Order: sequence, then C-alpha cells, then structure tokens
Amino acid sequence: MTDTGRQQPPLRLTRADLDALPNYVPGRSPADLARELGIPEAVKLASNEVPYGPLPGVVEAVAEAAAGAHRYPDMGVVALRAALAERYGVDPERVATGCGSVALAEHLVRATCLPGDELVYSWRSFEAYPIIAATSGATSVRVPNGPDHGHDLAAMAAAVTDRTRMILVCNPNNPTGTFLRRAELERFLDTVPDDVLVVIDEAYREFVTDPDVPDGLTLADRPNVVVLRTLSKAWGLAGLRIGFLVAQPVVAAAIRKVVTPFSASAAAQAGALAALAQAEEMERRCALVVAERDRVTEALRKHVPDVPTSQANFVWLPLGDRSVAFGQACEARGVIVRPFAGDGVRVTIGAPAENDAFLAAADAVLA
Ligand code: PMP
Repeated sequence: MTDTGRQQPPLRLTRADLDALPNYVPGRSPADLARELGIPEAVKLASNEVPYGPLPGVVEAVAEAAAGAHRYPDMGVVALRAALAERYGVDPERVATGCGSVALAEHLVRATCLPGDELVYSWRSFEAYPIIAATSGATSVRVPNGPDHGHDLAAMAAAVTDRTRMILVCNPNNPTGTFLRRAELERFLDTVPDDVLVVIDEAYREFVTDPDVPDGLTLADRPNVVVLRTLSKAWGLAGLRIGFLVAQPVVAAAIRKVVTPFSASAAAQAGALAALAQAEEMERRCALVVAERDRVTEALRKHVPDVPTSQANFVWLPLGDRSVAFGQACEARGVIVRPFAGDGVRVTIGAPAENDAFLAAADAVLA
C-alpha cells in the first residue's frame, strides 16, 4: 500500500526469466518420511550418496580443522590441490577446486559463455545443467538422449554452432547410468572445434568397471578438454562440498580466478585430504556398491527388461508416465527414490539391506 492507499503491482526485484526455471530437487529427508509413515526408519536411495559413512580419519580431520574455525581457510587450497595432483599424476597448476563439482560447472559456464552463447548437453542428464545455463545467461542446447538412454554424440556434434562455447559430456550419465566408450568419445572430440571447451563430468568415475569406458584424465591433454570430478560420491564427502577439475593451466587459472573466494572451507579441505589418504578403502566400498548394482539391475530386469546397464552408483528405470506413481508407491513403502516425471526413475545403490527394501517395494509395485 502507498500513502495514498492505492494498491501497487508487486515490485519485481529479480529477473523475470528465473520464474520459468525448474528448482533443483534435493532428495527427500528419510526422517520426515519415517515420521509420516510411523515407521522406525525410511531408506533414502535418491541422492547417489554412498551408504558407508565418511572414510576413516575424515571425522577426526574435520574436528581438528574446526578448532581453527575462526580463521579463513587457505584460499589457494594448496595442500589439497597438491594431493589431488599427485594422485592423478598432473601438475597442480592444472587443478582447481570448488564448492562441489556443481559449483565448478557453474564457474566453467561463467568463464566461457557470455549471454546468448550456447551450452550443449545431452538431455536427460544432470538436472543442474539447465539451471546453471540459465543463471549464467547462456542458451541451453539440449540434445535428446538416444534410444539407449545415453548421449547421442553424433547429434551433439551436429548441434555445435558458431555460438557454442561449451559442451557438457556426462560420463557415466546421471540419471541414466549410461556410458560412452573410448573410441566414440575420441571421435567426438576430434570433431569439436578447438575453441569449444568440452567438459567431461565424471562425478561417478570411481564406479566404472568397464575397461572400455575411458578415464577422462587420459583425454585431458587435449587443450579444450576439462575433466570434472567430485569427492561427494565414492569419496563419501557430499556434505562437505568439494569438487575439482583438471584442465590446461590457462583454463584452470581462469576458474581459480572466478571461483567464489574461500568457498572451499577449512573443514572441507581437511576432510578431503584425509579421504584421499584412504583410497584403498574407497575402492573396497565402491566394489561393494558395484556388486550390488549388478544384483539390483538383474532383479529389476525381470519387471523392466530395458533397464540400461549402469556404470554409476545408481540404476535407471525407464518407466515413462508411470515414473511419479512408482516413486510415490516406493515412498509409501518407506523407500525414497528419484522419479523424473514422464521419463524414468533413478534409484541409488545403497547397502544390501537398503537395496533389498527397494527390491521388495519394486516387486510389489511392478508385479
Ligand atoms: N555432476 C553430476 C553428473 C552429478 O550427478 C552431481 C551430483 N548429483 C554433480 C556433478 C555435483 O556433485 P557435487 O556438487 O556434490 O560435487
């Protein structure tokens, strides 16, 4: 109301185009669902986390870092970048860290695209990509997944125009678990113009078992290739928020320049260093997840024969219009999965008992 008492239209203080933007949907809280259903606990298989808790030594390292919480963290992330560089056999100048790899994806778009420039990616893929593109003013060019639910690289190559500045390749792909093989990915990279950045998002790399799926780092000597990784998944640090990328030194330096200052907290840096010292245990846990992934896939194929083979820590149920109802039916049985309306349902691989709970629900709903 103004002082004359007349109603004014609401002031628009933020960009109108944001109204059309989908919200990122975080996995639902299992505690809330358990309360709602009146059961002791619900199972959450919706956010691609690993079920085994932080790696040994992480909690202690974070607690120690917390004692210095009144100080700013190391803005250069020197020790962690050195540890990552050593583990992956690259120069520390080629490494940049961010507040999760999702933040790095955002920084990459900001560092490459001016408003109206094009960002090419396969769809359906990681739900943050359209949000990142829109908030950066870049134009999303979505290339539909192929019939196998994975990237259609020929169509993606054909979608590149003079305005394309960056391409996101998600391998393995979230949420479908599908994967690209070395020969096809190399052929694709050969066709992309040298001045277009290709970001290979390998959030799930540690769960890959097929030797034909290339480690992006073996492709990262190409000047326009960036490999994006995270410590959120296999390394069990989703709550601490650390991701990293490996790129050519000029690209990594540009990203370090645009990164939000101090966004890698002291706790995150210390936790990540402790986790990296536990690579063997990380691999052991991944092997457990992989064995369960194969078991769950086989069981689901009895109901849905075209469940794609997954190389990640989740599986995809291409249920189309039945997806949301399936998700609701699983929730009613105490299991939280991640439906994508009209498309499919992503189910994270958990501990064996959690997967059993999901399979029992799936048996009941899909039978
Ligand atoms: N890339 C992909 C493909 C993902 O699935 C995710 C997490 N869901 C991320 C990046 C971001 O992970 P984080 O920000 O936790 O590193």
